[in-house]
Amino acid sequence: MPDPNGFLRYDRRLPARRPVPLRLLDWREVYPPAPEDLVREQATRCMDCGVPFCHDGCPLGNRIPDWNDLVRTGTWELAAESLHATNNFPEFTGRLCPAPCEAACVLGIGGAAEPVAIKLVEVEIIDRALAAGTVRPRPAPEPSGKRVAVAGSGPAGLAAAQQLARAGHAVTVYERDDALGGLLRYGIPDFKLEKRHIDIRVDQLAAEGIDFVTECAVGVELSMDELRFGHDAVLLACGALAARDTPDTPGRQLAGIHLAMEHLVGSNRHVAGLLDRPPIDAAGRHVVIIGGGDTAADCLGVAHRQGAVGVAQLDIYPEPPSTRDEGRDPWPTWPWILRNYPAHEEGGERAFAVAVQEFIGDSTGHVRAVRIGEVSVQRRSGRRIVTPLPGTERELPADLVLLAIGFDGTEGGPLLDQAGLVRTASGMIACGPDWQTDAPGVFVAGDMRRGASLIVWAIAEGRAAAAAIHEYLGGAGSLPSPVTPMLDTSAPPDRSLRLPSMA
Ligand SMILES: Cc1cc2nc3c(=O)[nH]c(=O)nc-3n(C[C@H](O)[C@H](O)[C@H](O)COP(=O)(O)OP(=O)(O)OC[C@H]3O[C@@H](n4cnc5c(N)ncnc54)[C@H](O)[C@@H]3O)c2cc1C
Ligand code: SF4
Repeated sequence: MPDPNGFLRYDRRLPARRPVPLRLLDWREVYPPAPEDLVREQATRCMDCGVPFCHDGCPLGNRIPDWNDLVRTGTWELAAESLHATNNFPEFTGRLCPAPCEAACVLGIGGAAEPVAIKLVEVEIIDRALAAGTVRPRPAPEPSGKRVAVAGSGPAGLAAAQQLARAGHAVTVYERDDALGGLLRYGIPDFKLEKRHIDIRVDQLAAEGIDFVTECAVGVELSMDELRFGHDAVLLACGALAARDTPDTPGRQLAGIHLAMEHLVGSNRHVAGLLDRPPIDAAGRHVVIIGGGDTAADCLGVAHRQGAVGVAQLDIYPEPPSTRDEGRDPWPTWPWILRNYPAHEEGGERAFAVAVQEFIGDSTGHVRAVRIGEVSVQRRSGRRIVTPLPGTERELPADLVLLAIGFDGTEGGPLLDQAGLVRTASGMIACGPDWQTDAPGVFVAGDMRRGASLIVWAIAEGRAAAAAIHEYLGGAGSLPSPVTPMLDTSAPPDRSLRLPSMA
């Protein structure tokens, strides 16, 4: 029986992060493992609500009160089983999810108490299970005789592949990159997710019978016709990797101005030991990062670890409040608040409500400064109107500029042409209620369908698309399907209206 007074006895507490001066010396994750008594204490704060809003806040429908209570009593193995019932990869979400479940926790109503530390409990359950060796492969008892191809090995593709393989289908994952994991592999830095976590899961998936083919871009190395001919169904999970640029800003052509992903991918490859040096190195540089989201925060952490002299992060939007504005975002919705990531503790300056007017070059054609000015931003009829405030212009020194201003949906190219699919106005691939695109037998999930989003949504969509494919193939029984694809993908992602999305 859960402790209804636990939250009155214990405050919310998280383990201390590694000290900044130490963690800037390496690429390891910033959180050390938490002691067992702290995790059990924090799980005890859960009231096991009659209507657990945390559950609804999670796209996966994680059984949060159940595993909180199992952790409270120290029943770790059953807690891991409960966690895996709804989530294929809790070690990814436990580390990286912005936790809409915590924003929806009943304890947060009216700010009376702080929400349960759900993410902490989640990551500690799975880390203990992995360390104890209880996360074993679960191959299907018998094959279905059907073959499924998955294009893309991000969390959406991998979650779908695991669900389908466990249902008996022969699954092959085709990945364009040289390693598996999607954005988790070469987008997200190691200080947020060490890559061994991906490797462990890939080993499990391989032991469950999934075949992986890397360095194989569908549409280039393997045509869509070949893929469809060789498989009974195809899932496209190729992400939303078309980076947004700012081609009309004067000076954009100067050397030293890069897309954020060029910086992050090069750094991750260097950290992985694949490159001697990072191709875009912030060492000794004045860095300006344009963008206020998680990609920008990742560039900030990388720039400091590379040895930047100074880093400024510019956000076009005004500074959000530090706590939930109940009038604007009442509980249990996702609140618009200032999000401070561990990278922000490590240094750098943040400026809000400013926009770049010009990149200024030196005599060699290299950027030396950015001219910025204050702006006001309004939304009219769904469109963003940015108005510069005269007389507020100033220059910031910059010899490396990183553009972290979001993504314009999935990339165009031969895959879509060969499948006969077109991107929506927002750059996504639309599908019907059964996750099937306009191409028969071709399904879509994850960022490729919903636009740049979150890992938790990618896993949820991968699971749901797998359930639809299983039904399409006439598989026995049904697979769990936590979400539907009915979100209007023709509307532009709006971070203030939807669950957290990435920029
Ligand atoms: C820098 C950064 C930091 C982020 N941080 C967080 C975070 O902290 N928390 C969070 O929840 N979310 C975060 N996200 C978002 C999250 O990573 C994505 O929402 C998630 O990875 C989407 O999963 P996916 O499987 O749909 O696509 P992806 O992870 O993008 O994977 C798509 C895969 O498809 C492959 N591919 C593309 N085209 C082809 C082709 N033709 N043939 C074969 N393969 C192909 C790509 O190489 C890639 O591996 C971050 C995103 C970025 C960019
Ligand atoms: S809403 Fe909060 S207190 Fe209630 S069951 Fe969920 S985690 Fe526990």
